[in-house]
Amino acid sequence: MSIFSKIAAGEIPSYKCAENDEFYAFLDINPMVKGHTLCIPRREVDYIFDLEDDEIARFQVFAKKVAVALKKVCPCVKVGQAVLGLEVPHAHIHLIPMQSEKDMLFNKPKLQLEQEEFQRIADAVYAEFQKL
Ligand code: AMP
Repeated sequence: MSIFSKIAAGEIPSYKCAENDEFYAFLDINPMVKGHTLCIPRREVDYIFDLEDDEIARFQVFAKKVAVALKKVCPCVKVGQAVLGLEVPHAHIHLIPMQSEKDMLFNKPKLQLEQEEFQRIADAVYAEFQKL
């Protein structure tokens, strides 16, 4: 079981932002900016482009809803989306509230946030997601 499968199953704690039967979203623990969120399918697939056509379409719609909720909580110019998957072998979409293109540079130093701040952001995104 991948670390992200364990997170989606609740076996490893995470700052949950959104979920449905098929997908789960939570805050990246090493955020590039406040609100840096990961969306994953519950089904364990390493490479995102190995997802079935209809599954990747539903995954993108889920990520879109998370991005809409995220933008309300973390005001930004746009929410950027990226797929790397070089570290964790479980498909995931990074959602990053951007002020400028520098916020999408994955090799820049990561933010250190307090637990309370992670929880505040995640709870607020979760609440906004429920309204959609
Ligand atoms: P990549 O596979 O290159 O797209 O990067 C994986 C991302 O997952 C990184 O940004 C990590 O900070 C993040 N990450 C790894 N483990 C956890 C975890 N337990 N909770 C939240 N985010 C994580």
